[in-house]
Amino acid sequence: MRKATGSLTRQYKVAAVLAFGGTFDPLHNGHLRTATDVAKLLGVAQVRLIPCGEPAHRSPPVATAAQRLKMLQLAMNGQPGFMIDTQELMRNGPSYMVDTAANLRAELGEQCCICLMMGMDAFLGLPNWHQWQKIPEYLNLVVMERPGWQGGQYKVLQSLLEQRQVTTVEALMSAPAGKILMVTVSKLAISASQIREKISTGESAEGLLPEAVLELIKAEKIYQNQA
Ligand code: ATP
Repeated sequence: MRKATGSLTRQYKVAAVLAFGGTFDPLHNGHLRTATDVAKLLGVAQVRLIPCGEPAHRSPPVATAAQRLKMLQLAMNGQPGFMIDTQELMRNGPSYMVDTAANLRAELGEQCCICLMMGMDAFLGLPNWHQWQKIPEYLNLVVMERPGWQGGQYKVLQSLLEQRQVTTVEALMSAPAGKILMVTVSKLAISASQIREKISTGESAEGLLPEAVLELIKAEKIYQNQA
C-alpha cells in the first residue's frame, strides 16, 4: 500500500492537490521553485512530490531509490505544504502514471481536484505513455509551456486539447479531472543532469539545489563517477 511521508503525513480529505512526478535525481531548486509557483497560481495548499520508481520512458536514475527519497526528505524539511508520495517507489515494475493517477483518485475521493503538473517536454511525449488516454479521466493536467511550441503539429494532442483545454485557473479548478491548462512559468536554467555532470567533474553545484541535499550527495559520494 502507499505511504506518504514529509511535512504533511496525515491522510485527510483535501479540496485540491497538485501532483508533481519526476525522477528527482537529484531534486533541485528548479523543481521546488516551479512547484511553488504553480501551487500559488492554482491556489492549492498541498503539493505531492511523486518520485518515479522505475522510469518507463527514460534511462534508470543514477542514485538509488533510497538515496532519492532521502534527498527529497531532506529538502522537504521546513517546506510546509509539500509531501512525498512514495507509491511509485513501492510498486514493482515500471512506474506508469495511469496507475499513479488511479491510486490518487481512489485515495483522495471523487470530489478532490487533482492537478498533475508536467513540463511541455513530458506533455509532447504523452501519447507514448502506457494507457495515456485514461490519465485525464483521473486528474487535470497543468502543462508548463515553452516558448515556440507548436501544438498543431501533434494531431493526437491537438484533438486532446480541443476536447479538454481550458484557459482559466477557475475553469481548471472547478473540475476534479478531465481539464488541461497551459501555464507559463519562469523556468530556472537548472536540470538534474547538469547537476550530476558538475558533481562528477568536481565542479561546484552550490545554489542549484538545497544545501542539505548537496551535503548528502557529498557524504554518500553520489554522482561522483557518473553523470
Ligand atoms: P534530468 O536532467 O535528469 O532529465 P530534470 O531536471 O528534468 O532531470 P526530472 O526529475 O526528470 O528533472 O523532472 C521532473 C519534472 O520537472 C519534469 O516535468 C520537468 O519538465 C520538470 N523540471 C525539471 N527541471 C525544471 C526546471 N528547472 N524548471 C521547471 N521545471 C523543471
